[in-house]
Amino acid sequence: MSIHSIQWSFSDGTAIPIGTMYCIGRNYAAHAREMGAEVADDPIVFLKPPAAYRNNGSVIELPRWTNDVHHEVELVVVIGADCVDVHENDAWNYVAGIGVGLDLTARDVQTAARKNGHPWAVAKAWRGSAPVSAIVPANECGRGPWDLRCDVNGTQRQYSSTDKMERSVEQLISYLSGVFTLQRGDCIFTGTPEGVGVIVVGDYVRASLSTLTTLEVNIV
Ligand code: MG
Repeated sequence: MSIHSIQWSFSDGTAIPIGTMYCIGRNYAAHAREMGAEVADDPIVFLKPPAAYRNNGSVIELPRWTNDVHHEVELVVVIGADCVDVHENDAWNYVAGIGVGLDLTARDVQTAARKNGHPWAVAKAWRGSAPVSAIVPANECGRGPWDLRCDVNGTQRQYSSTDKMERSVEQLISYLSGVFTLQRGDCIFTGTPEGVGVIVVGDYVRASLSTLTTLEVNIV
C-alpha cells in the first residue's frame, strides 16, 4: 500500500501540510432528525487526526471491527492562517480554500458510544475515515451556497445545499477559534445533510461540491 499524502492538494498547486481536522455534528436539521436527535444549542465538535486523510482517487480499506460504515458528504473548509477569537465578519480572511469530503463513520460503534456516553474517536477517526477532494482556493470559490452531492455506484444518496447549514462557515470559524487556536492547514468538516447510508466492500463513491470539485474513492 502506498504512503498517503499528508498535504492538502490545491487545484492551483498550493501545498499546505494537513493539521487538525475539526468536525461538526448535527449541522443540518434534517440529518439530526434522521439520527433521532435535535440540533444542539452549541456545536458538537469532534476531531480526526491528519492520518485519517485520503486524497481524491484513493482506495479506502474498511475496518474489520465494523459492519456499518456510513458516508457523510460534507463541505470542508481549509484554514489558511493561524487565528484566535475571529469575528464572523473576518472569518473568510482565514480560509485558504474549500473542498468536499466524506466523514466516514462506523455507525454501529458510534451508536454504542452514544448510548454509553463514550467519545466518538474510534467510530469517526480511524485511518482512511477522512477522504477529501482537491481544494479550491478561496479566491476562486465565492462564498456559497454550494450544492453537496454523494453518489454510490452511480445512484444518488445525498443531495442538499450548504444554505441548509444550521451554523454558517463564518459562525463555525468564529466559534472554533474562540475555543481552540485554529492553525494554517487545519480544516473544518462542516456537517452532513440527510441521506446518510451504508457503504460496503466494492462500492465506488463520488462526492461533489457544485461544479467546483469532486472526490472519487473505491471501497475495499
Ligand atoms: Mg459528519
